[in-house]
Amino acid sequence: MDKIDVGILGATGTVGQQFIALLADHPWFRVSWLAASERSAGKRYGDLSWRLPSALPADAARLEVAALDAIDKAPSLLFSALDASVAGDAETAFASSGRLVVSNARNHRMDPLVPLLIPEVNPDHLALLDDQRRARGLTAPGGIVTNPNCSTIVIAMVLAGLRRFQPTRVVVTTLQALSGAGYPGVASLDAIGNVVPYIGGAEEEKIQTETLKLLGTYERGAVRNAGFTVSATTTRVPVPDGHTAVISVELAARPSIEEVSAALAEFTAEPQQRHLPLAPQPPIVVHTAQDRPQPRLDVHHGRGMTVHVGRIRPCPILGYKLVALGHNVVRGAAGAALLNAELIVARQRSRSADANAEGDLEPLASARQIHAKHS
Ligand code: NAP
Repeated sequence: MDKIDVGILGATGTVGQQFIALLADHPWFRVSWLAASERSAGKRYGDLSWRLPSALPADAARLEVAALDAIDKAPSLLFSALDASVAGDAETAFASSGRLVVSNARNHRMDPLVPLLIPEVNPDHLALLDDQRRARGLTAPGGIVTNPNCSTIVIAMVLAGLRRFQPTRVVVTTLQALSGAGYPGVASLDAIGNVVPYIGGAEEEKIQTETLKLLGTYERGAVRNAGFTVSATTTRVPVPDGHTAVISVELAARPSIEEVSAALAEFTAEPQQRHLPLAPQPPIVVHTAQDRPQPRLDVHHGRGMTVHVGRIRPCPILGYKLVALGHNVVRGAAGAALLNAELIVARQRSRSADANAEGDLEPLASARQIHAKHS
């Protein structure tokens, strides 16, 4: 099957570079277009600074970085790793021009017509994409799909595994890695040997609100938020990659600790059943050793897509407590968006196969085809 051309908005940042690395050997997608700020536009990607330990893929190195106004050159599937200061308007403009924007940025996450998606948690919310297109007059494949905040993903995956026990109250404290602040991020003199008890950009509010939308119910064109409450404290710690979340949770069904552990270990969902290329098998690894999970030892397992849980034990206040960990730049950002796109494409392909007619759906098209349609 031909690979689908994809572009990356914000290709030069922490998340943008992770997109390039994860897409280097992707079986369905091929990077053909890159964009960033005016500081990078016009330069060859290979001439800019590459900050990942893996080699910069030669195909990406050859591409010239475009500015955000080069909309008509962009392919129909775009991953956005843009800074939030520009992501809002830019993503809207690309979606209006018929591009499907699969975004990491916070700007559109809580828009009632934009799917806030984790394929293992709420794949049915993808139906909002059609509602969005209808309400906003967008031509398919145009639209915006988002993934949540990098800590929220870890917390929502755990709560999805426990959903059948009916969570009622959640208290979470995060220990978030330096790479979560982008590049160059937190000053070394603030970070080394320190814990910073505040993360700007409404980090705590994002965990408290996005989790409820993710675990909410899609009904007739809208998501009804989940009925439990979340209280979050977020801290920055001198760890390169991997956000840890210390979670206490109240579960109305009062399962045993063994039942909680089994539910998380056995958790599986549509990405695993469809064998999506980036889907971790299993999505959640439950550790029994008392000193795991640890960012240094565990965060890269499953290509960084696995969520780790350990120290599952009774909490004298809320009933249950545990420690969770996920790779913020992979599971919490680039890998999350890629998995969202894989779900969209897999569903589109199976619907095409069912209908036995390619024309039944709006295929992801080349830049030239989109340009022709909109001009
Ligand atoms: P970053 O390292 O600061 O990269 C930001 C990117 O945005 C760069 O490519 C930069 O291009 C581009 N950009 C900045 N200002 C621009 C402008 N005026 N016009 C066009 N492009 C502009 O940030 P990051 O950590 O990769 O985060 C990217 C997005 O993902 C953010 O919205 C962030 O909140 C979100 N996110 C990050 C993480 C994480 O763990 N880091 C996790 C989840 C979500 P230049 O290089 O040319 O300046």
